Amino acid sequence: MHDHSTYEDGLKYRPDYVWPDEGSTRDCPKCSEEMELIENLENYYGKPWWCSECQWQFSEEEFEGNPIQKDADD
Ligand SMILES: [Zn+2]
Repeated sequence: MHDHSTYEDGLKYRPDYVWPDEGSTRDCPKCSEEMELIENLENYYGKPWWCSECQWQFSEEEFEGNPIQKDADD
């Protein structure tokens, strides 16, 4: 029996991004289109916000001082 002492995913580092609440919305700072909020999955290593227009990810940390938009009358 082999002892699997090496963790195969050990080199992967999951950044500790601040994750917005589900239903939060943000507009892309580049193109002003509404971005997609990615689901916070354990095997997802990217940033929470995805702009399909720019093909670019953004994290909450990049929006400091710019609070999440809540669409109250949606
Ligand atoms: Zn964009």
